[in-house]
Amino acid sequence: MKTRVRATIVGRVQGVGFRPAVYRYATQLGLAGFVCNGSHGVTLEVEGEPLNIGIFFNKLQTAPPQQAHVEGLEKLHLAAAGYERFEVVESEPHGSRSAHISPDLALCDDCLRELRDPQDRRHGYPFINCTNCGPRFTIIRDLPYDRATTSMAGFTMCPACDAEYHLPADRRFHAQPDACEKCGPRLQLNVFGGAAGVDEPLAKTHELLRRGRIVAIKSLGGYHLACDATSREAVARLRQRKHRPDKPLAVMFRDIAAVKQHCELSESEEAELLSVACPIVLLKRKTGSRLPTNLSPDTPTLGAFLPYTPLHHLLMADFEALVMTSGNLTDEPIISDEAELSRLAGIADAALTHNRPIVHKCDDSVLRVVSGQRQFIRRARGYVPNAIRIAAESPEVLAVGGELKSTFCLLRSGNAFLSQHIGDLKDYRTYEYFSDEIAEWQQLMRIQPVAIAHDLHPGYLSTKWAAKRDGQLIGVQHHHAHIASVMAEHDLQNYVIGVALDGTGYGTDGTVWGGEILVADRADFERVAHFKQYALPGGDKAVEEPWRMAASVLLAEQLGEVTPKMRPLQKMIEAQFNSPLTSSAGRLFDAVAALLGLCDVATYEAQGAIRLEAVASRDVTDALPFTIAVCDRPWTLDFGPTMRAILDERRAGKPVGEIAAKFHNTVAAAVIQACRYVRGQRDINVVALSGGVFQNELLLRRVVDGLRANWFKVFTNTHVPPNDGGLALGQVAVAAERIKRRCV
Ligand code: ZN
Ligand code: ZN
Ligand code: FE
Repeated sequence: MKTRVRATIVGRVQGVGFRPAVYRYATQLGLAGFVCNGSHGVTLEVEGEPLNIGIFFNKLQTAPPQQAHVEGLEKLHLAAAGYERFEVVESEPHGSRSAHISPDLALCDDCLRELRDPQDRRHGYPFINCTNCGPRFTIIRDLPYDRATTSMAGFTMCPACDAEYHLPADRRFHAQPDACEKCGPRLQLNVFGGAAGVDEPLAKTHELLRRGRIVAIKSLGGYHLACDATSREAVARLRQRKHRPDKPLAVMFRDIAAVKQHCELSESEEAELLSVACPIVLLKRKTGSRLPTNLSPDTPTLGAFLPYTPLHHLLMADFEALVMTSGNLTDEPIISDEAELSRLAGIADAALTHNRPIVHKCDDSVLRVVSGQRQFIRRARGYVPNAIRIAAESPEVLAVGGELKSTFCLLRSGNAFLSQHIGDLKDYRTYEYFSDEIAEWQQLMRIQPVAIAHDLHPGYLSTKWAAKRDGQLIGVQHHHAHIASVMAEHDLQNYVIGVALDGTGYGTDGTVWGGEILVADRADFERVAHFKQYALPGGDKAVEEPWRMAASVLLAEQLGEVTPKMRPLQKMIEAQFNSPLTSSAGRLFDAVAALLGLCDVATYEAQGAIRLEAVASRDVTDALPFTIAVCDRPWTLDFGPTMRAILDERRAGKPVGEIAAKFHNTVAAAVIQACRYVRGQRDINVVALSGGVFQNELLLRRVVDGLRANWFKVFTNTHVPPNDGGLALGQVAVAAERIKRRCV
């Protein structure tokens, strides 16, 4: 006897080949009915033998399409309706939206094979894609995900593409960005100050790159600036024109074999590189690699990634490695629109562009693997807008994040949607992008926040932005948000010891915090200990110029002579003129880098700390003296004695690498000791680590290993960056918890 089941499936089920899979399974099992994309996900009805219906749902759950993620499946048993066949019907347009948007997906193997097959009608076509791969988030204007709501709307399919699109058994059935040479997007090469629309754009681009030129290349979420990574001269030219003397540049390798030629690669690092998100992975360079050292002069690592669009594959056919760095000017957002291209004219010699518009800018994601755990440095393309599950239920909340490395976060039904990396809000273009993108996400996801969570810093542009909106404002302390981001990721509900080692963040006492040990839950925190405070002579200027921090520490600890260069700073500090006090861990690393002669003035953020980590000898395990002053609350982790020892060792002629290592070990030892004291008093055995300083791999390993050796349970960020890019996740978690407690 025939029965009918109606089902709604929620999760990431649109734009991932879900309906074709439903169609295949249903027709194989002789079931009739329909499937369509709805505003809540996918809705379907199947009618037939109960046994076959059972097998159908079993298959759908055990063998869903590769990129799908089923979050919920609700079934309703109904009487048979007399369907005669199985059909894919049009989408239902309205309602509140709980369908999740897929991130952009790297080119799949089937499409790569066709791209290279001279017999295939898409041979060499730079925009080939299917239901398993291609652009998604970066082309979506609205839901449900259909061609008309993407930036492909302007391209009318040719008869051949149209046939595939409507053939349920085809791999391109309802592949919204489907196209071919005849009907789809096209490449165009424009030479700056020269010809526009040059013939044979791809061949000409190859030639320019071969000659050491710099070409702006349109990718999924914006433009890259590309040059030959094997040419020291080309790399130097790019650095000079981009005013980026030292900051590492990302390198795209032809294939995994090329990566292995130049970098050490663990199994988990290889898996990350080959994943469908295709992130930039920080890898240790091989000593024998003949790639020029000016790709990353300060570090022994290289940011490596693989081609992820068909255009990349075509470009990389002739190159082992190309630099592919974000196409932007310092602190400005990545350029994604042809109208803005002239801004790159001073850097690039030509632009390889195309006519498929980018709706959402999205930089490449950057991550590394530390002790088998993923650590994001920047979370964007390939991961955004995946949901991060942080609670069973929740109100709708917006969090606006910090100011540098800005991201925002929307929370709905316990799902947190963290935005792509936006950048430094102090740049006006970035600020506009931030503001526009929030409006677009709220529209796209139909979220109307009841509250806006923000940093306590009154001067942050995100805080000011929030203050101008309607809705309840919830201020969240910077380091509490960092720790809450870890708690949210790992579903930690009870009190934790939170170690937030950071650059700077606004404290509840109005001073600048950044080396903090908290006892926290999701709603509130207590500051139990912090790094000793030093003056920050010149405020932001002291962040850019580590020598100022070194001078400040020397003056405070009365170490050595006051040199003529230090005298104006001494006056500033004594007069308390623009010299706020800070307990920042990041600034302490800066000070030591300057003391050891590694970095007086930084050309990019955290350069001093990065160089200090790079020189530190990994086999040195001993530490220098420090004290923890516990007479007052909060306790002080005092590294004054450490600074004295560093100067003594320097005078004694000890190698810089040895002293740098001992400093890392000392900070780790102090943190571990403080955690043991807190455990002794509060009986808390769980430690959450966050803050930008934990991007220092050596420090992170020392702290994690030391805490584990002391039987602590240790948690770190694995879904969001420990830097301010993850702040907004912590902010929504705190806001949701506070709202919940007030209501319950
Ligand atoms: Zn494909
Ligand atoms: Zn076509
Ligand atoms: Fe921070």
